[in-house]
Amino acid sequence: MPTIITHTAPVLALGVALGLRRIPVRLFWVAAFCTMLPDFDVIGFRLGVKYADLFGHRGFSHSLLFAVLCGGLGWMAATWLRCRRWLAFALIFAAVASHIALDAATSGGLGVAAFWPFSEARYFFPWRPIRVSPLSLHAFVSGRGLDVLRSELLWVWLPCLTLALAVRLRRAM
Ligand SMILES: [Zn+2]
Repeated sequence: MPTIITHTAPVLALGVALGLRRIPVRLFWVAAFCTMLPDFDVIGFRLGVKYADLFGHRGFSHSLLFAVLCGGLGWMAATWLRCRRWLAFALIFAAVASHIALDAATSGGLGVAAFWPFSEARYFFPWRPIRVSPLSLHAFVSGRGLDVLRSELLWVWLPCLTLALAVRLRRAM
């Protein structure tokens, strides 16, 4: 995975691009949280679940079905989120799907089970510029962390913010 905070970049960029007048605040923060949600599967390591298992890291929680289910919860919670149902579904689905896409662009680990239950295969994009973040904090701070952050700044934060500012400037014209 990219670091968990970097997964929020697409939704934060959307907030910069459109402003919080267009995206209900509660929905925005829930969507930002949902960008990180798939990686809660690492709890499984503590319970003895193996990486490559269906409920292991980058398994079920990294499938488009999971994104649809999360979007469905958003659809049901639209009143609380203070938005239209389709918007809650679309933004939360996109938030989770963005996580899956970013993981598929990383340089290591196993790929994502994006098409489960139709396929148990783990997928990567053919082009994977993002350095994979170590799963342990110790490994992160003891060497590869700076490399990972540099890669995420270049391949995630910079494109997201550039696009967001371009949209914002265009809207201001
Ligand atoms: Zn992930």
